[in-house]
Amino acid sequence: MSDAFDGLAGVLWDMDGTLLDSEKMWDVAVRELSIHLGGPMTEETRLKTIGASSANALGVIFDALGLDRDPAALADAKEWMFTRVEELFGDGIPWRPGAHDALRTARAHGLRSALVTNTERRLTERALETLGRHHFDHSVCGDEVPAGKPHPDPYLRGAELLGLHPSQCLAIEDSPTGAASAQAAGCVVLIVPCEIPVADGPGRVFRDSLVGITGSDLAEAWAQPSGVRL
Ligand SMILES: [Mg+2]
Repeated sequence: MSDAFDGLAGVLWDMDGTLLDSEKMWDVAVRELSIHLGGPMTEETRLKTIGASSANALGVIFDALGLDRDPAALADAKEWMFTRVEELFGDGIPWRPGAHDALRTARAHGLRSALVTNTERRLTERALETLGRHHFDHSVCGDEVPAGKPHPDPYLRGAELLGLHPSQCLAIEDSPTGAASAQAAGCVVLIVPCEIPVADGPGRVFRDSLVGITGSDLAEAWAQPSGVRL
């Protein structure tokens, strides 16, 4: 690792909306699911599902439609949604701008990398076909931790798998839910908003996109005081 990194040792990458434009596919799937279950989704409901774990998203959809959170019905809905997302992922997932080069840049500078996603392993494996497994030392999925984002568990586990303290890691996120998770774990968060705005706050640094990001940019983001827009 270069001296320029001065303590930054790892990058923890969110997947949906940060590396891949998969939120668009989730958008299709959750809207279709809502219609399948009883009616169209309001924009307010849709915003609540962005960046949520599948369990939380399903709960939001059921509540919005006035459905009982019956475990069997939730399980059926989850299977319906996952099958639809798998179909959509199978067609190939578009990258977010600059994300592929950003992964290569982190590697080129000797930074350890982990994928930290609320998406479950079954779908993450499909997405890794697009991402390329060689970019990551480890991956953490929503169904592999006690509680998904916005809880800190996914980021704590990601840092642990890299053999690092969260404070040595830069998390890269696009959503308020993901940013809250990374922050709760003790990571500095570089936020590249995608679908919805993310509020400023302690430990948060903002960038409009990952296009052209350099190793020095990653190190600077990690070392910046919070609330800075690079
Ligand atoms: Mg995301």
